[in-house]
Amino acid sequence: MTEITTLTCAFCKGKGKDPFEIMSKEATCQVCGGRGKVAVAKPHVKCAHCQGKGVSPNSRNVCTVCNGRGVISVADGKKVCPGCGGSGSAQENNLPCLKCGGKGVV
Ligand SMILES: [Zn+2]
Ligand SMILES: [Zn+2]
Ligand SMILES: [Zn+2]
Repeated sequence: MTEITTLTCAFCKGKGKDPFEIMSKEATCQVCGGRGKVAVAKPHVKCAHCQGKGVSPNSRNVCTVCNGRGVISVADGKKVCPGCGGSGSAQENNLPCLKCGGKGVV
């Protein structure tokens, strides 16, 4: 049985509004639909790609790896990447891990 946990939406930090006001100041957050919370199946790991922020690095877009949640569920058969231990970057040189492409899960 999959256990679902409710987390604060990483993209809007629980405010329920688009943090970048791309559409308008009152636009609802596209990640949580304005609820400020997202449901994620347990267990989950912090998204290495966006460092748990839910925002794609160097952009104002929803992180494509975690879909803006800031965490990645590993309940559906995904595993923490053995190459980087879930950090998403190779320990030797800090480049994105080749095994998982920087996702931290495989
Ligand atoms: Zn949100
Ligand atoms: Zn992410
Ligand atoms: Zn990796």
